[in-house]
Amino acid sequence: MFTEENLLPLSGLQHLLFCERQWALIHIEQQWEENRLTEEGRVLHDRAHEAATETRPDVVTARGLRVRSLRLGLAGQMDVCEFRRTTPEDTGAIKIPGRDGHWYPFPVEYKRGRPKKEAWDEVQLCAQALCLEEMFGARITFGALFYGEKRRRTPVAFDPALRAQTEWLAEQMHRLFESRATPPPVYEPKCANCSLSARCMPALPRKPAAVARYVSNALRSGEVA
Ligand code: SF4
Repeated sequence: MFTEENLLPLSGLQHLLFCERQWALIHIEQQWEENRLTEEGRVLHDRAHEAATETRPDVVTARGLRVRSLRLGLAGQMDVCEFRRTTPEDTGAIKIPGRDGHWYPFPVEYKRGRPKKEAWDEVQLCAQALCLEEMFGARITFGALFYGEKRRRTPVAFDPALRAQTEWLAEQMHRLFESRATPPPVYEPKCANCSLSARCMPALPRKPAAVARYVSNALRSGEVA
């Protein structure tokens, strides 16, 4: 079990899954660079947090709800959590102070672009669900991702494989944080979309002899003035 003092940002899970070095540059070395993609994502999140809590007869929508898990050592802020009216038999049913009946917490995360092949967004949403489960003592089986480009929700099932992947990533994030060691870069196609590529310089050779060759070639080709 973790304590409140050593919780790590839940949002780091998507960085970690994208690239361990990117996660370490942001969360250990505190480097961050905004590019068009991150700027668009930030604007979408800000909008999701803008409105206050809304209430309809069978849904209470809470924005910017803070969640945490002492078991996983994670803390974060949700874009949206819809509390949907349900029956007492529902394993996800909880009570809301000051309201009658039973409610099911349904997490919704806003993302720019469109659904991705990789599970970056699903992992983040699942981590929110695991936090809600711990906080409310309920079983949460579904949530949704809202993509800015498609402007509609994609349902996400919190199945055993996604739960296991999320829990393993949380453990790995704490292992890396304890080590305080930034992994070396691995140059891959995804580096082209990485907000930290200019700082990371993944194509730069790391061995002294290779660096000397790289600089010498760059000087000869006129890339370095
Ligand atoms: S540029 Fe590539 S190696 Fe470097 S942090 Fe980004 S994804 Fe990782």
